[in-house]
Amino acid sequence: MPDRLPGMSSIPAAPDDAVRACIEDRRAAFLDDLAEWLRIPSVSADPERASDVRRSADWLAGKLAETGFPVTEVWETEGGPAVFGEWPSGDTGAPTVLVYGHHDVQPADRSDGWHSDPFVPEERDGRLYARGAADDKGQVFFHTLGVRAHLAATGRTSPAVNLKLIVEGEEESGSPHFPELMRTKAARLECDAVIVSDTGMWSRETPTVCTGMRGLTDCQIDLYGPDQDIHSGSFGGAVPNPATEAARLAAALHDEERRVALPGFYDGVVELTPRERELFAELPFDEDAWLRTAHSHAALGEEGHTTLERIWARPTAEVNGIAGGYQGPGSKTVIPSRAQLKLSFRLVAGQDAEKVQQAVREWVVRSLPDGIRHELTFWGVSRPCLTPLDHPALRSVVRSMERAFGQRVLFTRAGGSGPAADLQDVLGAPVLFLGISVPADGWHSPDEKVDLDLLTKGAEAAAYLWGDLAEHWSTEARTTEVLSQEE
Ligand SMILES: [Zn+2]
Repeated sequence: MPDRLPGMSSIPAAPDDAVRACIEDRRAAFLDDLAEWLRIPSVSADPERASDVRRSADWLAGKLAETGFPVTEVWETEGGPAVFGEWPSGDTGAPTVLVYGHHDVQPADRSDGWHSDPFVPEERDGRLYARGAADDKGQVFFHTLGVRAHLAATGRTSPAVNLKLIVEGEEESGSPHFPELMRTKAARLECDAVIVSDTGMWSRETPTVCTGMRGLTDCQIDLYGPDQDIHSGSFGGAVPNPATEAARLAAALHDEERRVALPGFYDGVVELTPRERELFAELPFDEDAWLRTAHSHAALGEEGHTTLERIWARPTAEVNGIAGGYQGPGSKTVIPSRAQLKLSFRLVAGQDAEKVQQAVREWVVRSLPDGIRHELTFWGVSRPCLTPLDHPALRSVVRSMERAFGQRVLFTRAGGSGPAADLQDVLGAPVLFLGISVPADGWHSPDEKVDLDLLTKGAEAAAYLWGDLAEHWSTEARTTEVLSQEE
């Protein structure tokens, strides 16, 4: 009988009593350990916390060794160190899985509005409050409990997959050295699939699996006209105005249907399948509530797409800033000498960031009149990633989540961008997401927390996942996939 497709499930497989018993047995010790880790204020943005970021890396490496990982290493970068752990399966042909997370945290101070010290974890109403509880220490650490439960339930002494972990120390500071680390350590990080545990689910009641992230490229365009501000009466209407040209560029970014008008922008875009659109539409989305979180007074975007489709699956262009000319009180009738435009482009699977950058360059040159000089600076690139719903590794993630939660799971994507997606590019392996955080966890906000029931569900899902991947995803299947990708 063929495997059922995700999202077409009937009843999830029953939970494994041995997995649940192991998690229950170890729950208290697991939470004590996590609390100890959360007490280390590993704030990567604060140079004065550099020693804490290091302490956090050493602490994790020690705990991975204690869990049983035969290889644990702290990898130096120009900035905060990363932690690598490896636990070979011992089974020939076992798939290799790389778990990604981070051990640094956002800054936090009690005076920001916390009800308890952000670095003194406190349990209230089944939730653990601390900076990093959900983002991302809790979600990294559930993997130690997950692998223990996997071994206890299967009687194995090593996991059914070759298990690797990479936990970086600068994610909250934009991962400045992670791409370089990925490249230099590519051989050690080699894998068949990446599991990112730095994401969330729709809600406690609606467990979901994220299937992709958008990419990003952003730029600044400086426009220079007259050599100085000049009189708009003496010269206006007869010379080019850089502020007008900035506005013309901004206005020309979208067409009447709110589609991005940059030539070639949609080339290669992987469109949503009808099934994906159906499944998105099944999510209990409340647009009014969403608008309140957006602090916006209306929804607006590309015609022919829903709000969720627009933020998850469609590429976009935004004006992030526009400046130029006189900004003081009253009027000053000048043609300014300069203006500036800051633009960002969210990208989806199939788009090539370098091609988009080239299209922007050509568009700017073509659009500007003589007499306007420009400088165009691109800040960086995050790549998009997407795993198709019928990918065998994604199906394993879905089955494992459904088994842990005892209910059908739906699908989301992430509108934002992050370094995890780059792993797909550098390692040539699909990126999958196993995250249990919910929006109420308050990432980056005061009173960040993690729901302890969901945290142990995450461990349970991980416990099932390694066996499921090993069973359903043979070396043969992986070779065929690689071949078909190369065609
Ligand atoms: Zn994070």
